[in-house]
Amino acid sequence: VEDAVQEDMARFEETFVGINKRFRLINRIGEGTFSTVYKAEDLEYKNYSNSWDIDERENTKWMSPRSRKQSSRKPHYVAIKKIYVTSSPIRIFNELELLYDLRDSDSVCPLITAFRHLDQVVAVLPYFQHRDFRDYYRDMKVSDMRLYFRSLFTALKAVHRKGIIHRDVKPTNFLYNTTQSRGVLVDFGLAERQGTDWHNCACDLTDEDRHYRISHSVYAQTQAAGTSYPKNDTRSSRRANRAGTRGFRAPEVLLKCTQQTCSIDIWSVGVILLTMLSCRFPFFHSADDIDALLEITTIFGRKKMRETALLHGQVFETNVPSYSEGGHSLEKIILWCTGRTGDKTMPKKELDEEEKEAVQFLYRLLECNPAKRITAAEALEHPFLLKAYE
Ligand code: ADP
Ligand code: MG
Repeated sequence: VEDAVQEDMARFEETFVGINKRFRLINRIGEGTFSTVYKAEDLEYKNYSNSWDIDERENTKWMSPRSRKQSSRKPHYVAIKKIYVTSSPIRIFNELELLYDLRDSDSVCPLITAFRHLDQVVAVLPYFQHRDFRDYYRDMKVSDMRLYFRSLFTALKAVHRKGIIHRDVKPTNFLYNTTQSRGVLVDFGLAERQGTDWHNCACDLTDEDRHYRISHSVYAQTQAAGTSYPKNDTRSSRRANRAGTRGFRAPEVLLKCTQQTCSIDIWSVGVILLTMLSCRFPFFHSADDIDALLEITTIFGRKKMRETALLHGQVFETNVPSYSEGGHSLEKIILWCTGRTGDKTMPKKELDEEEKEAVQFLYRLLECNPAKRITAAEALEHPFLLKAYE
């Protein structure tokens, strides 16, 4: 363990009085935007779940020879998530409450307990042995992808059944054990109950309503006035929950739809599958929402984006000529990304049969219309995932 990490752990033990009575900090395993996560041994382990001890050899490796002789019981590892004190109390409460609600859900990392000392809150979760996504996504065979997504969709089915939107599905929040072909979904820091923010969205409007809104939109007004952009627009701009990670946001999030559903998580899963098939990570790079929409336009084309925007009462226009009207097939994108362009040096320009099956599934995930996008429960019944069992 590095010196800097040792110092950090020592400081944590010092400031969080009493933590070392129950936990022995071992290492720092994660540093995110909202928290620092440590691996620790739980010295007062009470039978919370045996299934979490994945690798016995790994476990005994951490024991000193003395404690190994002293007791026959193996140590129990936990992940201690130290939530930054800058996070709002409501937000911290929200994360803990949702985790508690999901405690019996398959493939969701359960909450063991939580503590507060002064303004510091920590959540204690069973430690889950996993590999870093960047170390394996390029080497995954399609058969490995089936297992990965079967596990991820099992978690999402349970979360969505409770009406909870995770909002931040991405590889670092799905801890996957490649040996066990099993993963757990973590990080409910941005999660919310579906329906928290339900107003002002055109998704559920009738066609007439939608037509009314569109004909009264900024675009319609500027067309009528003959100007290019409203200079003194007094209406308040639309606000919607945009929480999530760049590159993984669904079109409706980028379009500020205020009535977002669990299907936003399905789009993010689609981005993970696209990453694996194209061997590009991160696949989308844009820092802001407009650029992110344009990145999606590169693939799906202008026509699809215009239709998608209309679903949410927005108008999509671009004068950049390089975006094609019809976009490109996902097959073609994957072939390009993996250098199979069909020239002399790289003659193979077809996806293999298994990859084609994966692409069929991918189209159901990266569906621009959230109402048409596959659900987690449906995904588990899709031929692509059913084959994982064979
Ligand atoms: P943040 O909100 O800061 O992103 P996360 O809950 O995503 O916090 O945890 C950050 C990182 O810590 C994860 O990406 C993972 O590497 C590690 N981690 C979190 N929970 C566990 C756990 N139960 N077992 C093992 N590692 C974990
Ligand atoms: Mg995270």
